[in-house]
This record gives sequence, C-alpha cells and structure tokens, in this order.
Amino acid sequence: MSRVVVVGASLGGLAVAARLARLGHAVVVVERSDTVGGALAGRERDGFRWDTVPPLVTLPAALRDLFLKTGKPLESVLSLEPAEPTAHVFGTGPALEADCGAHAADDWDRVHANAARRWDTVRGPFVESAWEGRRSMRRLAMQHPRQLARIAPWRTLRHEADRMLRDPGQRQLLEHYAVSAGADPRRAPAALAVLPYVERTFRSWWVPGGLRALVDAVHDRAVLRGAVVTTGTSVTEVTTTGRRVDGVRLDDGRSLPADVVVQATDLKQRRDTSVLALLLGLRGWTPALRRHTVLFPADAEAELDALFGRRAGLVTDPTMSVFASADPTVAPAGDEAWSVFVAAPGPGVVDWDAPGVASTYAGHLLDRLADRGYDVRNRVIVSEHQVHQEPPTHRRAPMTGRVGGLFRISGSPRRAGGIPIVTMSAAMVADAVGRA
Ligand SMILES: Cc1cc2nc3c(=O)[nH]c(=O)nc-3n(C[C@H](O)[C@H](O)[C@H](O)COP(=O)(O)OP(=O)(O)OC[C@H]3O[C@@H](n4cnc5c(N)ncnc54)[C@H](O)[C@@H]3O)c2cc1C
Repeated sequence: MSRVVVVGASLGGLAVAARLARLGHAVVVVERSDTVGGALAGRERDGFRWDTVPPLVTLPAALRDLFLKTGKPLESVLSLEPAEPTAHVFGTGPALEADCGAHAADDWDRVHANAARRWDTVRGPFVESAWEGRRSMRRLAMQHPRQLARIAPWRTLRHEADRMLRDPGQRQLLEHYAVSAGADPRRAPAALAVLPYVERTFRSWWVPGGLRALVDAVHDRAVLRGAVVTTGTSVTEVTTTGRRVDGVRLDDGRSLPADVVVQATDLKQRRDTSVLALLLGLRGWTPALRRHTVLFPADAEAELDALFGRRAGLVTDPTMSVFASADPTVAPAGDEAWSVFVAAPGPGVVDWDAPGVASTYAGHLLDRLADRGYDVRNRVIVSEHQVHQEPPTHRRAPMTGRVGGLFRISGSPRRAGGIPIVTMSAAMVADAVGRA
C-alpha cells in the first residue's frame, strides 16, 4: 500500500483519489479552497445556483467508467440527461436551423466525415494516452506518417471552414469552436473540428443540479472508498529524496509523507483568451428559450480582432453563450438562473480589477442581450460576474515527470473536453500507480 497525496480537489483530483483508494492505497487529498470542485464548484446566492463554466458534459463514458470501477454505476448516484439541441442565432438573421440553404446539411456532414477520420487518429495517441507534448507528435510522425497527414496539423480551422462550408453562418459556428477553446480560428489547427463531431456522435449531457452535483458525487465516492479530503490547506512544495518524491509541505507548516504525489492543479501555460461568466438570477421565465442558446455577432471578424488582434480589448459585440435553467435545484420556484459566457482578451489586456471595469462590461452585456431580443434588465434579482483570467490551455502536460512517484492529472484543459480529459487522465494515473 502506498501513501498517496493528491494536490487539488476538483474533478481530476477527486477522480484519481477515488480510483487509488479503491486500489487499496492510503489517499489524502489536499485542497487550498474552502470547498471542493475547483472550476466546477459553481456559485450560490439568494436561492440561485450557477455553473461558472459551461455545464455540458461530453464523452460521458469516461465518467461511467470512473463510477463503475470504484463501486456502483454512475446512474446509482446521478442521472445524466441528454441535452436538447443548442439554438444558434446569428447577428444577421434568424436561427441557423431556419437560415441555411439545402446544401448546408451536406456540407456539415462532410465536415463531420473529415472530423471522424481525424478523431480516429487522435483518439488513441492524444486523448486516451499520456500527452507528452511535441514528443507525442514526433512519435506519430515517425510511426504513422499517414495518420499525421490526416490530422494535417499545418491546416487551420479557418482553412477548413472556408474549404468545406458555403454558408457563412456555418463557418462562424465551426470557427466558434476554436474561440470557445480559447484560440484564434485563423491560427488554430483544423483538428479542432473534432469538437462538434464528438458532440454530435457522443452527444452532450446535462447534470441535473449542475456540475457541482457531479463533483459532489465524485467526492462522496472518493470518501466512501476511504480517501481523506482536507480543504483550506495549500501544498507549497513537493519534497523529494534523490529522484523520488517523499512527501509534500503544507502552508500551515506541516509535512505529509508520501510515496506517490498526484498534482491535480491547474496548469499555468500560454493562454490566448479569458472568459467572463455573467451570472443572473431572473424573476419569472423566458418564454420559448432553449437551455442553451448561442447568440453570434453580425461581425465575426471584429470579434476575432478584438480578442486576438494587435489592439485587443473588450469585444463590443461578442458571441454570447447563454445557459438558462428554471430547474428547482438551481432557481427558486418560478424563477430562472442564467449563466452567460463571453470570451475576452487574454490576461494583461484588460485590468479587471480596476474599479467598474467588470461591472460596466456586465451592464453592456445586458444591453447587448436586450438588443438581441432578450431584455431581462427589469427581471434581474441578482447579478454577479466571474472572470476566468488564467484558463490553462487545452494542451496537456506529461502525465509523469522525471521524479519517481510524481504524477500529474492532465491539468485542467481550458473548456472544450476538459471534463472527460481530466477524468480519463485520472484513470491513466491510477493504472500507472497500480494496485496496493
Ligand atoms: C472558462 C472555462 C470553461 C470551460 N469549459 C469547459 C467545457 O465546456 N467542457 C469541459 O469539459 N470542460 C470545460 N472546462 C474545463 C473544466 O472546468 C475542467 O476540466 C474541470 O474543472 C476539471 O479540472 P481539474 O480537475 O483539472 O482542476 P480545476 O478545476 O482547475 O481545479 C484545480 C484545483 O486545485 C486546487 N489547487 C491548486 N493549487 C493548489 C495547491 N497548491 N494546493 C492545494 N490545492 C490546490 C484549486 O483550488 C482547485 O480546486 C472549462 C474551464 C474553464 C476555466
């Protein structure tokens, strides 16, 4: 039996704790916040409960495997609901569904067919295996040059959109997958086209009660298997003897001995955008509103220039991704909770801490929503905002370092696919550590 310390109690940390405790190890999870959940912990106020990251789960098989391998199946503690289709509304006109010509379905199918081939290629070496940065890419190039050609890392998503899609709305939609992953579609790899493919093939899922309910279920499973979770304490240092870990040092001066340390903390890497989450508690219901609506701006290029250009700044007319729920677990009876996500330039461009900057922009977003037909200004009971200023990139860090006994959950990939990726990464780490 190994003594394991897991640093960070978000989904990845709790998932690896549950698995390792199940394998018979003595596991302690150390979390610096007062609550578990990390980015998935959400916010609560005045009877409203919001997710502060987009609350859709993709590739649910990763979660199902976690619950099955640590005891009872996922369905015994949590029900995942298939998400109804997202409404895409373009700045220039009506919803995508009504807007595109007859060729649109065929074009979109072609994008998916291409993405399916890419997915088959990247799935094994990049999603279901430890990511070793350029080394992974080099290995693929040496061993399977034809597969590398299929991924075409030199092709951008803009290029893919231009050559595959005739409808400007569809091009905007495809490129938006790069923006929501924090990247400029004019430079991001075409491989990001696998994101809509994965959503369509494996569907998107809601967790009733929000992502917090998912984290709570994983926390409970870890504790049930014997892991000890401590909150309000930071790990300040991983200590070593020779080239092996021997423990961690905590901010309260204590040390915890360990044979294995798993870092499940956010990675600090290069990041291209920030995200503002506007959290609204609204009186009453909005008629005919889907649970997820994306409002695209009329001028997509202006948004990209504001986010990634030389003179970057807050986007005047941004893409707004609106998640609305009147579920009694997230809003008082008869009311609605909205989480609105908007991309903003990367850290250093906007001084969010300067007085009034964030609140003025939040007010501007309410005006923009009103312009787009969603005037909720006189229904606001509570309003908050949160800026995710340092989302780590989607890129995953190596699972293991050069120090024996030190493992890393893939870091919290920014957005797209982060939830399944950290869950799979937890499984890889547990496999690498093995049985007690
Ligand atoms: C804006 C945004 C949008 C996203 N959108 C999506 C999406 O659409 N789909 C999706 O699947 N995923 C998405 N993600 C990613 C998803 O939120 C993460 O994958 C998920 O939170 C799991 O991350 P994690 O377990 O790696 O850690 P995190 O949630 O990053 O948590 C790390 C934890 O470690 C703790 N910690 C850090 N340092 C220490 C220390 N020294 N000592 C102790 N504790 C420490 C932190 O307090 C935190 O609780 C998004 C993320 C962001 C920020």
